[in-house]
Amino acid sequence: MTGPLASNERHRRQVLKALLWVTLVGGLFFSVVNLLHDNWPLALLELCYAGVSAYLLRLIDHTRHLQLLTAVYLVPFFSIMILAVSQAQTTFAVFAWVQTIPIICYMLLGLRLGMISSVLFVGIGLWVFSRRFWSEGWLPNLEIVTNLGLASLLIMLFAHIYEYSRLLNEKRLTELASTDTLTGLANRMKLAEVFERERAHAQRNGTPLALVFLDIDHFKQINDRFGHEVGDRALEHFAESLSQRLRVSDLLCRLGGEEFAVLLPGSNARQAQDIAEDLRARLVQNPMPLADATLPMTLSAGIAELGSDGQTLDDLLLAADRRTYAAKRAGRNQVIAWDEAPQAAPQA
Ligand code: GH3
Ligand code: MG
Ligand code: MG
Repeated sequence: MTGPLASNERHRRQVLKALLWVTLVGGLFFSVVNLLHDNWPLALLELCYAGVSAYLLRLIDHTRHLQLLTAVYLVPFFSIMILAVSQAQTTFAVFAWVQTIPIICYMLLGLRLGMISSVLFVGIGLWVFSRRFWSEGWLPNLEIVTNLGLASLLIMLFAHIYEYSRLLNEKRLTELASTDTLTGLANRMKLAEVFERERAHAQRNGTPLALVFLDIDHFKQINDRFGHEVGDRALEHFAESLSQRLRVSDLLCRLGGEEFAVLLPGSNARQAQDIAEDLRARLVQNPMPLADATLPMTLSAGIAELGSDGQTLDDLLLAADRRTYAAKRAGRNQVIAWDEAPQAAPQA
């Protein structure tokens, strides 16, 4: 996801960064501790891991493969934890690290991968740890596995519920932030996001991309004559009757007030002109029903095309707005696709 709400990856990057520092410092510290305990294989491993952490810290701000880097980091990290848990020389407190696995996994890998890796690594950690007590008989073994297993399960459950509700909220916020509340259409922010994607696609494939700017004619008069509420309903009617004509790949959005835009991937200015002309005619043919009459509405539209009118959304909006203004001056209820060739006003 791009746009203002695309902060999740940035957030994950920060979490991973903090963890890398912890494993760099922790790895150095425990390698010394394990050397003092004469456990030099584990000490060497931890020293290597501290080195890997330092190396990844240099990459993390620039990498475009965060998920891969996370996996490269987590698999050895958890494996060392489990190795430490399995060794008779280490203290039982080492298991506390295994219980951080679900939180780390859900925060860094999201819901699905987080669940799979939590179950896998906590399960292995628990099994390996319980082996240390096999010689003491089944009862102490069962007690330990039940205690640690239930606590780990609770942590995993909380992490899962937390990540699930975070995802739902993020989805709701993204929808809210990109939707116009009155008409339910996309808003300007969504248009900017989709435009970036479609522009990249058009440039990659050499396909055209057009933008139509639409402005309802004399809308102020509707408000003045029938009231703001009817004006609002007229905007909804406008949005609905235009949506019915467009393809799913087209994006109709409300820029604000009584101004709308349609992004038409795969269409050049000529094709966009035909579509806009169709929208204009459709609106004329479908006046909004009122209690005892109908409310006729017309629109003026301007077209812009990626390339000939510029490369950014602002360039296209500016050009299309300029042509819409020309359509207004030429008598309204018409579409203008080029600066120099205004179309003859059709009969309303
Ligand atoms: P033109 O043909 O030149 O476009 O004239 P116009 O009256 O459509 O344009 P103008 O910009 O003068 O007026 C737009 C009006 O749209 C003014 C404002 O009250 C109304 N408006 C803007 N947003 C809303 C809205 O959300 N609901 C309603 N009911 N009216 C709105
Ligand atoms: Mg306007
Ligand atoms: Mg208007």
